[in-house]
Amino acid sequence: MVFGKKKAKPAGDQPTLGGEEIVLPPLEIKTAGIPKDEAQGLMIAARQLPGYPVAIVLVANAISARADRILMDYSAQGAVVRYRIDGVWETLPPLDRPTGDAALVVYKKVFGLNPAERRAKQDAKFATNFKEIDWVVNFTSAGVPNGERVLFQIDTKKPTIKTLSDLGMRDAMQESFRGMLNGDKGIVLISGPAGQGLPTTWRISLESADKFVRDFVSMENKADADPEIINVFQNFFEPGVGDTPEAQFEKILLRQPDVLVMPSLINSYITDRVLDQINQHGKHSITRLVANDAVDATIKLLSTYKTEAKEIIKVLSGVLNQRLVRRLCDRCKQPFQPTPQLLQKLGIPAGRVQKLFQPTIPPPPEQRVDAKGNQIEIEICKKCNGRGYFGRMAIFELLTIDDKMRQAIMKSAGNPDAIRQFAKQNGHLGFQEEGILACALGMTSLQEIQKMMASK
Ligand SMILES: [Zn+2]
Repeated sequence: MVFGKKKAKPAGDQPTLGGEEIVLPPLEIKTAGIPKDEAQGLMIAARQLPGYPVAIVLVANAISARADRILMDYSAQGAVVRYRIDGVWETLPPLDRPTGDAALVVYKKVFGLNPAERRAKQDAKFATNFKEIDWVVNFTSAGVPNGERVLFQIDTKKPTIKTLSDLGMRDAMQESFRGMLNGDKGIVLISGPAGQGLPTTWRISLESADKFVRDFVSMENKADADPEIINVFQNFFEPGVGDTPEAQFEKILLRQPDVLVMPSLINSYITDRVLDQINQHGKHSITRLVANDAVDATIKLLSTYKTEAKEIIKVLSGVLNQRLVRRLCDRCKQPFQPTPQLLQKLGIPAGRVQKLFQPTIPPPPEQRVDAKGNQIEIEICKKCNGRGYFGRMAIFELLTIDDKMRQAIMKSAGNPDAIRQFAKQNGHLGFQEEGILACALGMTSLQEIQKMMASK
């Protein structure tokens, strides 16, 4: 039984899947953009369809498993279903083609889409309340060379990550980082690789800054605006339609802000104006960009605004970068005593770390047998379902730009490795060192850190 729970006793007219009774989870679908009456009619009709139970269980199980994506690949043979949980794709046992098709018809009908259309791109958005949480799900289907691909993107309406601690930032780093955010006459750069949670870190960084005594104003492209943040006054420019960035910037200054929140420094002119506000009027600025580590981010910022580079580096006070790893399940993680050789390899001085932790991952079902081939009962952790991990966290690197660092960056701008080397000699902790610290605190595993270091 792949989908749904088996019922102890069949109860007459319950829907069945492959001849087995299933209990349907209470998942209501509210499609965006369809009038209520019409949506109700579509729902009532959908409940009568043979694919309804599989369709509902597919999404309900994904949410229960904390998946944020469901991918369904249809080919002549059937439908391969995958859930993405904590950034890792898990393949479910495949659905045969009729079962997979029947489930997809249900969704397309509920969304008012054309079930017969299997090539052109179709999309819809729906809301649902499940497990006492409001969810928003984006649905897309489109033809691909081998068949059709369907993607569900599942998001919570209210973000659950609220603090730098939730993100996994250690206390001492939080203190330094807050010092940078709450400083003055400087630029703080927040960075990270694409698809590694940078928008979340940006939001939480701004939420962590002291906005009660100082006025924070942002300047954002309307076409690409960030979600609202309490006590950050948002301003938008709209090239070709509304204000140009240049006009908008002067309007913002009329508000006499203390901190200029700049998701991008936009262009050379705006960068120059921001620098002028910092140098002449004691303002502070926070900006961001996509980059693989703190040194990369610094070089990228300086090379994007070449003419202003010398002035930027003078006021750049700190650069944050991050990568995501899975958090060990605190219910089943296992301590182990690292050997002296391992500690040496990790660069941890002897006696500093007594224990590290590893995930509990049960053997696959086919290996759960004794020497005689009898099935062995293995207890699977109820919290993580035998994944060994529960949720994700960021490993951060925070590069403090002091005068020594500034000189090294200016001297070796074309040689990032030389800058990294210099930073390390000056006590900066890079991803590897920060990752090992997180392992020593029992937050993640060495395997996750290895995987993180290998990813680019
Ligand atoms: Zn567990």
